[in-house]
Order: sequence, then C-alpha cells, then structure tokens
Amino acid sequence: MTRTYLIKPVLDHKYSFITHGEGIYLYDEQGKQYIDGSSGAVTASIGHGVQEITDAMKEQSEKVSFVYRSQFSTEVAEQLAKKISQISPGDLNWSFFVNSGSEATEMAMKIAIQYWQEKGMNTKNKIISRWMSYHGMTMGALSMSGHIQRRERFELMLENYPSVSAPYYYRDVNYRTIEECDDYYAQELEKEILRVGKDHIAAFIAEPMVGAAGGALTPSNGYFQKIKSVCDEYNILFIADEVMTGLGRTGKMFGMEHFDVTPDIMAIGKGMSAGYTPMAATVVSEKVMEPIRSGSKVVMGGHTFSANPQSAATSLAVLNYIEKHHLVENSARQGAYLKEKINELAEESEIIGDVRGKGLFVGVEFVEDKLTKKSFESRLNVANKIVEANFEQGLLVYPANAGADGLTGDAVILSPPLTITMEEVDELVKRFGVALEKIEQELLG
Ligand code: PLP
Repeated sequence: MTRTYLIKPVLDHKYSFITHGEGIYLYDEQGKQYIDGSSGAVTASIGHGVQEITDAMKEQSEKVSFVYRSQFSTEVAEQLAKKISQISPGDLNWSFFVNSGSEATEMAMKIAIQYWQEKGMNTKNKIISRWMSYHGMTMGALSMSGHIQRRERFELMLENYPSVSAPYYYRDVNYRTIEECDDYYAQELEKEILRVGKDHIAAFIAEPMVGAAGGALTPSNGYFQKIKSVCDEYNILFIADEVMTGLGRTGKMFGMEHFDVTPDIMAIGKGMSAGYTPMAATVVSEKVMEPIRSGSKVVMGGHTFSANPQSAATSLAVLNYIEKHHLVENSARQGAYLKEKINELAEESEIIGDVRGKGLFVGVEFVEDKLTKKSFESRLNVANKIVEANFEQGLLVYPANAGADGLTGDAVILSPPLTITMEEVDELVKRFGVALEKIEQELLG
C-alpha cells in the first residue's frame, strides 16, 4: 500500500478514491459508479457537480473570498441571512454563521445561556437533551448528545446532559399506544425539569427526527406540541437541531414544520450548502435576540471563517437552487415513493423490522426476528454489513446503529439527493434489494 499522510476515520480501511460526481452519482478511480443514496452524510442534497453552484463560487472568488467578520460584513452574507429569515418559520429572523453542524448546535446552546444571563437569570445554564440523539463532535455539542460510541472516550470530560427518551414507537408501542407514549415522554421531561430545577435549565434540544443515533426515528404529529408546552410551562427555550432534517430533506423546508412547532433557536448545516463548502448557522428568533440587542449587544462566539463570503455565496446559490427546482416538493413526492418501494421489500424480507421517516429521509431497521422485534447481536455489526453489501452493489447508505442505552437496533438511512427522479429511485431500490438478499442469506443461511 502506498504511504498515506491523511488521517482517515478507520486507518487501515482501504478507501476508494472518488474522481468525480454528477447528479446522484459518484465515480471512483476504477470507473465504478455509486448511487449516492445517503447524500454522503445526508449532505449533498442537490447532487454532485451542479454548474449553477460552481459558477456562483467562481463569481464570488473573483470578488473577494475572505473578510474577517469582526472588521467587515459583506453584501452576500447579508443576503444569505435574509434568505434564511424568509424561508424559516415564525420569527426565526437572525442568523449566526459557523462552519459545521457541531458549531451550530454549540452556538445555539451558548446563545440560549446568554439569553437568560441578559435577563439576569445566571443559574439557567444547563441543556436537557435526549438519549437517542446526536448534536455534534465538539465537546459542548457532544455533551448534549446521547451517541454512546462517540461519547465514551471523553465521558469524564463531558457534561451529563442527555436525560430523556426520544420517541421510539417501533419498540415502545409494545407496551402502550402512541398517545400514551407521547404522554409518557412529556411527563418524563417534566420530571427531569423538576429534578434538575427549572431555574437551572436554559433549553431543551431535539432533532425533529433522530438521525445518526436512531435511523430517522419519527415522532407522531402530537409529540412535539406536548414537549413544547412543557418547555413553555417551565420557561425553557426550545432548540431544534435541523442540521440533518433541514432544507427540504424531510419533504418540508424544515423538519419541525411537520409538527407545527416553531423553535426559539434552530441549528442548520449539511444541506445548507449541500456539501459544496463548509457552512452552517444558528438561527435565532426575535424573542431570543431582543434581550441581547437591548442588553450587552454582543453575541459571545464566532470563528475565523464565520460568515465567510465564499461560503455565503455558495450557500445562497444552493438555497436558490432548491427553491428554483422545487426540490422540497420533489423530496416529499420521491420520498413517499421510495418509502412505498422499501415497504414492499420489507414485506418480503425476513429481517426488515421497521421502515420510517418522511420525505427523502427514510430509516430502515433490521431485526433478527420480526415477530418479537429482537435485534441482532451487536457483535454481528449488521448495520455495517448492510452498508458494505450495498457498497458492493454501487449504492451508498448511511449506518445508524448508535446503540444509545443499548436500545437501538441496526438501522440505515436512505437519503439520496433531493433531485432524484422516479427512475433513479427504482434503480436505488433495485440495488438495495440485491444487497438485502445477499445479507439475508449470509445471516439466516
Ligand atoms: N446535528 C445533527 C442532527 C447531525 O446529524 C450532525 C452530524 O451528523 C451534527 C449536528 C454535527 O454536524 P457536523 O458533522 O457538520 O459537525
């Protein structure tokens, strides 16, 4: 093997080299074609090699690529913030630009804490989150995450924030109805608030649908309304982590719109620039900005590359592209079709236990026994086996076997670019079906 100087996620894994991408496809050095069925890490949401975006990038780079945000603003960063305000629900009008989803959730946490400080309530500095969750890799974001594999090496240094359940009806309805489940989750949150003390809690954070830590776990229509009213009752801000679900992924512009709940603060990333450049944002409501604007007038945070004009121009072009090509609607339409096709496979399959999600955010959970819903033993690493079998067939899928509290089974997420056509969905499902058959034979003989 040739000497490598690049630290990769798994050092001795033999990674393929990708030479180029076009639409939903990626091509490696050997000319092998892959359907990007996961949009990378649920990111490349307008597909690869879109010229409108590369043109916008070139145009901006010929003007200016970098200014320091403490010294200057730029027209393009202002335009991007305005665009986000226009597409965001309620009074989520203010954007703070960062470079990754982790920074966006961490900034959301900091702004929530600052909000209470501006109001003279300095003790409100903890965040409640859910055990099945992933909010990022930086220490603050990881503190709010229940992703055990990613936490365990750093556990001693992390705040022990996560504390309540996320809705996991596939397993929880064994014991109660969905409505009873939702009442239970809301009561659990209330109990936790009372245990910690409402005067110590700044905010509650949740993904509209749990991604990496659960595989598109999807709440009922009523879940978030119950949760939000508990937050309101105890004066706790509500942060929606839309890093994975935002910008059309679930068939609405933002995942939380499915549940008619408007957050006080929202974190976005990934699809915001569709992978063309690192870009993310913390989007803040008028309510939260008001005491900051009339108080210290400073938001304590920021990075060298925050509001970088090159990234702002790229992201603005991506958001315009999503709108111009009606990709949110396409996500809803093709997502429903994809889910229907995967459900058809599930009926025949002996190991698909659950198919869930909305839009082009479809989770598939695998079990050893469909009747009892018994998961495969974790040592079998079934989610990774599924990923590898699909990889062989030229299909990329995203593993979601976080094992939060040992509850999660093996799941994968199907989240192709929002540009996908019906024929391309058929091709994706065909490859998925072949991989599934192979895995079933391997696991069940
Ligand atoms: N929040 C959610 C819901 C995510 O899925 C992720 C990444 O997968 C993050 C935050 C962290 O984003 P990033 O990897 O860009 O730091």
